Amino acid sequence: MTNEELLAKIGQSTGGEETEFYTPMPQGYRKGHHKYVIVVGTVMSGLGKGIFSSSLAKLMKDKGLVVAPIKMEGYLNIDSGTLNPYRHGEVFVLDDGMETDMDLGTYERLLDINLSASNYTTNGQILSGVLKKEREGGYLGRDVQVIPHVVGEVKLRLRELAAKTNADVIFVEVGGTVGDYENSFYLEACRQLAYEEGEGSVIFVALTYVLEPGALGEQKSKAAQLGIKRLMEVGIMPDIIACRASNPVKDKVREKISMYTNVPMKRVVTMHDVESIYTIPEALRDAGMDREVLKMLDLHDRVDTRVEDHARMNWRWFTDRIGKATKDVTLAVTGKYTSLRDAYASIIKAGEHCGVHLGVNVNFKWLDTTAIDPANVVKRLGDCHGIIVPGGFGVRGTEGKIECIRYAREAKVPYLGLCLGFQMAVIEYARNVVGIADANSTEFAPGCRNPVIDILPEQKKIEGLGGNMRLGGKDVLVKPNTLASRLFNNAEKIRLRFRHRYEVDPKYVPQLEEHGMIFSGKAPDYPIMQILELSQEVHPFFIGTQAHPELTSRPLTPQPLFIGLVKAAMAYAESGASKREKQPV
Ligand code: GLN
Repeated sequence: MTNEELLAKIGQSTGGEETEFYTPMPQGYRKGHHKYVIVVGTVMSGLGKGIFSSSLAKLMKDKGLVVAPIKMEGYLNIDSGTLNPYRHGEVFVLDDGMETDMDLGTYERLLDINLSASNYTTNGQILSGVLKKEREGGYLGRDVQVIPHVVGEVKLRLRELAAKTNADVIFVEVGGTVGDYENSFYLEACRQLAYEEGEGSVIFVALTYVLEPGALGEQKSKAAQLGIKRLMEVGIMPDIIACRASNPVKDKVREKISMYTNVPMKRVVTMHDVESIYTIPEALRDAGMDREVLKMLDLHDRVDTRVEDHARMNWRWFTDRIGKATKDVTLAVTGKYTSLRDAYASIIKAGEHCGVHLGVNVNFKWLDTTAIDPANVVKRLGDCHGIIVPGGFGVRGTEGKIECIRYAREAKVPYLGLCLGFQMAVIEYARNVVGIADANSTEFAPGCRNPVIDILPEQKKIEGLGGNMRLGGKDVLVKPNTLASRLFNNAEKIRLRFRHRYEVDPKYVPQLEEHGMIFSGKAPDYPIMQILELSQEVHPFFIGTQAHPELTSRPLTPQPLFIGLVKAAMAYAESGASKREKQPV
């Protein structure tokens, strides 16, 4: 059926005065080919909709299907760039520079694909799209309304993603919880989409929560039932119910949920807490979810079992090794947001990937650097086998970070600087090795006399927050015969992801190099320093990057800089050096 025929069938047009419908269709859209799995949350947020959605998407991708996830956020911000990681978790930057929610990191890691701006939308994007069209006269004289125009825009976004990626299945994660004002028009759009696409094209998954109050010692399903009822009130019948819980959900409880929701038992699945999220795809497969999805969406014919066997074998190699390591290393992470681990989700994941590949438990010790000074740095860091200074903004704790880096450099503790941690390493070296005592960054000391870190020249004119950062994937030229080159297997050009406003002032580069700092990664077209290191003749592992390599670590392909750090930390732990360093110096 062509799109025109579809529209005729359901009595719709793309808009205009005569009709109440508003269903614009993108070019290249293949009605009936693209299927949708829509994941919504009930009872409470933070249940791991992204984890469920990406795990199910992985099962489908591993069968040789083309999948495309999209996260639809309820907030009015256009992107996540201005969100405080302390409140909202880390800002995950995509290759095309889009600043998104940390859930997009989960999708990239589980699906092993690079996503783009079309995999992420917010209320702000949808509404500003509508307002722009209104100004351009795009609504042919109609009064512009939430229904049909705003929901029409949401459906258009979903169909555009389908057409652009030619996806077999689009996994739609609706942010927030059913009943929130913020996501109500997303739900209405999805309901309409299901109606328009027709039977066998759209399924709904409700994630819910089964309580187990300590005082009762048993699982209770009432909250889950009420949550799903709320979904039914907006005209959506779930096809699958995933029950989050601390412990495996009992059959009796699943039966009750099934009875009250019309969802057969085989599609009411337990999704209890597990040690590693990477085991969830197989758990869902064991519960038969993949077959149910194939059946409901009539996708059996598109499955390639050879692709699936291969993908499962590789994945099992990884998951079988989780939690089996017998060795331990501890990496210190110095950061402002140490009270909220979500702010450093990708670093934790990168460590986990390396740990599995190298057979070691990578533990993190979180340090608030506002409390670190020359007198206590050895005491605080002496038991760590490696040090990471991660990305960050603002002056708070920066002197403590410099102290940590000095300690790492002098005591020869493996060091990895990420973005701000790269800039801090330059400042530390300039001050303590080159002898520029007042070296600093204009981010922290606007009027300083020696700003070794300064704002990017081409961006000096742009003011205000948001929109003036160097963002996204960029090529990096790697200098041969360096630590960086060895870590990246002698590659001459690599790609890393960036999110920064400041950089090394090229004016200071000759001085820094004369004193032994090696800039082993540079931008191809501008004198932007991207990787620094010390010669392995003077330090076993001291490296920093202006990029965020943690964002591109994947379970089966851990990020080389992290692999280098963890290997060096293992060697450091074996040498017993950390114990020696614990003694007061
Ligand atoms: N604040 C620094 C800059 O803007 C570092 C940014 C970061 O660590 N992501 O350049």
